[in-house]
Amino acid sequence: MSATIIDGAALARESRSETADRVAKFRAAHGWAPGLATVLVGDDPASDVYVRRKRKAADAAGFVDFHRHLPGSASETEVAVVLEELAADPAVSGILLQLPTPGHLDSDELVALIPAEKDVDGLTTLNAGLLAQGRPGLRPCTPAGVMVLLDEYDVPLGGAEAVVVGRSPLVGKPMAQLLLARNATVTTCHSRTRDLAEVCRRADVLVVAAGIPGLIGADAVKPGAAVIDVGIHRGENGLRGDVDTAAVAEVAGLITPVPGGVGPMTIAMLLANTLTAATVQQGLRPAA
Ligand code: NAP
Repeated sequence: MSATIIDGAALARESRSETADRVAKFRAAHGWAPGLATVLVGDDPASDVYVRRKRKAADAAGFVDFHRHLPGSASETEVAVVLEELAADPAVSGILLQLPTPGHLDSDELVALIPAEKDVDGLTTLNAGLLAQGRPGLRPCTPAGVMVLLDEYDVPLGGAEAVVVGRSPLVGKPMAQLLLARNATVTTCHSRTRDLAEVCRRADVLVVAAGIPGLIGADAVKPGAAVIDVGIHRGENGLRGDVDTAAVAEVAGLITPVPGGVGPMTIAMLLANTLTAATVQQGLRPAA
């Protein structure tokens, strides 16, 4: 293996510990701690695990837990009522609606009920628009975490060829915009891209968020590239990503493992966003 393995777990621990210190300072200054409301509708096992992890990490960092769990049969009005209550509650600094929601609910309509200043997943139209315009706002946690990993490992972005595989509103699109904001030359691939491997081979920085296990092999990677694997798939042999890690590590310069790469940073960024949201709601400028 030639690639350096990016230790997302270690960086996430550092980030969470910094956020915990800042939460303690916030509490000392204001007499209350910021609150995070995770909203889970239904009993999807993967969503249940993700929400538990987020709540545990938030609790460990000193945030107040406003978790709400609704049955999978909840109507859109019932979910909307909960979101509106949380939106109006000044003790709730951040609201996260765990996606996907059950099929009978319109998640876009529900996300639209989250005030932009409490939208710690960065999914509302306002925050997506601010990102598209290159203006400050709350950024989606997974791509924000990828940017931290790239920076911590000193990956040059200005003028670099960056290829993002996937264009979801949660990962691919904001990822491409964050890289563009840092002056990378960005190409976005999707399910209709012709010759994916050829496009990916251009990349100095390759971020893969397609949701297809092992989609990217060594033939799709430029020697020395930084390869970030966002995919998460639970198989018989544990977790794996969208990248064939063993084969790609022979070619890449840097690579994220699965698990222990992007996943832990996503939670760390959720905590950082919640603190930023609380700080902005107090009319204070967030720490850089
Ligand atoms: P998604 O909404 O399903 O989007 C997948 C994207 O990949 C789509 O834009 C799709 O293209 C594209 N795609 C599908 N097949 C492709 C192919 N053969 N070639 C090129 N592009 C292809 O998924 P997502 O929410 O972005 O998540 C992607 C993966 O990341 C999943 O495995 C998810 O579990 C994981 N994830 C991990 C974290 C984390 O914290 N580590 C966070 C979020 C998501 P079209 O638009 O044309 O359909």
